[in-house]
Amino acid sequence: MHIILANPRGFCAGVNMAIKALEAALERFGSPIYVYHEIVHNNRVVEDFRNRGVQFVNSIYEMPVGGVLLFSAHGVSPEIRLAAMERNIVTIDATCPLVRKVHQEVIRYTSLGYTIILIGHRGHDEVTGIMSEAPEYIKIVENETEINELPVTYDTKLAFLTQTTLSVDETRSMIELMKRRFPGIVGPDNANICYATQNRQNAVRELGTGADIVLVVGSRSSSNRLAEKAESLGICSYLVDGPDDIAAGWFRGDETVLITAGASAPEHIVQSCVAMLQDRFQATVEEKIVCNEKIAFPLPQELGIQVLT
Ligand code: SF4
Repeated sequence: MHIILANPRGFCAGVNMAIKALEAALERFGSPIYVYHEIVHNNRVVEDFRNRGVQFVNSIYEMPVGGVLLFSAHGVSPEIRLAAMERNIVTIDATCPLVRKVHQEVIRYTSLGYTIILIGHRGHDEVTGIMSEAPEYIKIVENETEINELPVTYDTKLAFLTQTTLSVDETRSMIELMKRRFPGIVGPDNANICYATQNRQNAVRELGTGADIVLVVGSRSSSNRLAEKAESLGICSYLVDGPDDIAAGWFRGDETVLITAGASAPEHIVQSCVAMLQDRFQATVEEKIVCNEKIAFPLPQELGIQVLT
C-alpha cells in the first residue's frame, strides 16, 4: 500500500484561531468556559475540550449570568450578542473573519435595498448566523431545484451570497443558473467559499487521479465536501472520524490511498490513521504539496492581539 498525504489538509486559519482562543481563554479565566455550539464540527476536538472543563451550550440561558462565553468560528446572530450583553456575560468572539465578511455583506446589500439569495445548508450554524442579520430579506437555497422554484421578480434588486464551506463545482453551477434566471443579480466573483475549502477540494481533484481510495478525516457534523468531491471523480471514498472507523476489509493491501482532512480535523488524528494503515498494510507514505497556505488570523482582541503562525 502507498499513502499519499494531501497538503493542504486539516485545520484552516479560522479553526486554528478559534481553538487557540479557547485554549487562551481557559488559561486566563479557568473553567468553566462556555462555548456557543460546538467550537468546531469535530467530535474529538469537542470531547477533548469537554474533558478540560469547557461546556458547550445551545442557548445562553443554559449558562450563568456573568459567565465567560466564546463564540465559535461559525459566528452568531446579533440577538445572541445582545442577550449576552444584557446578562453581563463576558464574551470572546472567535468568529472567523471570512464568515464575518459574509455578515457584513448582508448588512451592506440590505442597506442598499437588495433581497439576498443565500446558497447554503439550512440549520448549519454559519448559515443560521448569517441569516439572522436580516431574516426577512434573505432566502436560502440548497440546490438547483430550489433556484428554479424561486419566483421571477423583475422589479426586485437581487444579490447572492454563499456559505463559506460548499462544494466549489456545485456552487458554481448554482450561481450560473441564478444568473440565467435573474440576469441583474449581483454577488461576489468567486462566491464566498473560503480559501481553505477551495484548496482542500483542489488537492483532492489534483491528487485523487493517482489514488484508488480516498480517506477523508472529519466528522459527519462538518460541512466538508471532500468525500463527495472524490466520489464525483469516480474514486471510492470514506469519511472517518479516526482510525477506529477504518475497516481493514476496505483494502486489498496494494492500493494507493489518498488521505486528506477537513478544516475541522486535527493533524494528530490524521497521523493515527496513517499509523494504523502502516501497521496493518506496511504502507509507505509520501506527502504531496498542491499549494502552500500562509494565512493566519489574530486571536480575538478580547484576548490580546497576537498573530498565530
Ligand atoms: S473553513 Fe474557511 S470560513 Fe470556515 S473557519 Fe475555516 S477559514 Fe474560516
